[in-house]
Amino acid sequence: MNIQPTYSSLDYPGKMSLVLFTPGCDLRCKYCHNPQLLKNQQLTRWDIEEIEAEVESNMDFIDAIVLSGGEPLLHVEDIKNFIKQAKDSDLLVKLDTNGLHPDETREIIKDLDYVAMDIKAPLDKYYKITDVYPKDTEELIRKTINIINDNNVFLECRTTYVPQLLEPSDIQELTANLDCDRYTLQQFRNRVTLDANLSNYEEPNPEFLREILEKLETNIPEIRLKSRQFGNQLIKG
Ligand code: SF4
Repeated sequence: MNIQPTYSSLDYPGKMSLVLFTPGCDLRCKYCHNPQLLKNQQLTRWDIEEIEAEVESNMDFIDAIVLSGGEPLLHVEDIKNFIKQAKDSDLLVKLDTNGLHPDETREIIKDLDYVAMDIKAPLDKYYKITDVYPKDTEELIRKTINIINDNNVFLECRTTYVPQLLEPSDIQELTANLDCDRYTLQQFRNRVTLDANLSNYEEPNPEFLREILEKLETNIPEIRLKSRQFGNQLIKG
């Protein structure tokens, strides 16, 4: 099967969810923890039917589905099936996205309850994180944010902090005018990485990450830190 279902109580905060990891992505983040998903395989009819059956048989145990990846919007026509099934069953729907697909986001936005979007770096500095990214990354991400906010869907923006790739000033720069409901800084984990060199990098100290967040000048109402040591911590809000 080209789509991996996993049950989680963490991916949709406060809810039990079925997370669907779809294949393919248009970025190649050096720290990507799901390199096995980067090949853009097509979803087969069989994949879709299997997932629909999985959702159907676990309807009583879950509150939400989470569309994750990879980049789920590479399969927008297929994921519309899952969204319709979820909505018909009164389940919540969360989308995890890299923000590079505003047109596809617009197609499904009315059925989304929550979007978690990666902001990898200041929008003109994606070269720090990935060798592959669209020329118009900045414009695409701004458009996606506007679509989400215009439809009043809860928006969490997230950045993974790798000390060798980002600096504290990058976090200040990217959050300064970021229009989202929640911002989460994620501690880099060195267990599985697309670029094998990163597995030799140390994971940043959570105290160092907390200091970055405490000094931020931003109007984002809620700021969080996610680390191996302390889980998901509220820093502001
Ligand atoms: S956007 Fe996510 S799935 Fe895609 S390469 Fe980056 S970390 Fe991996």
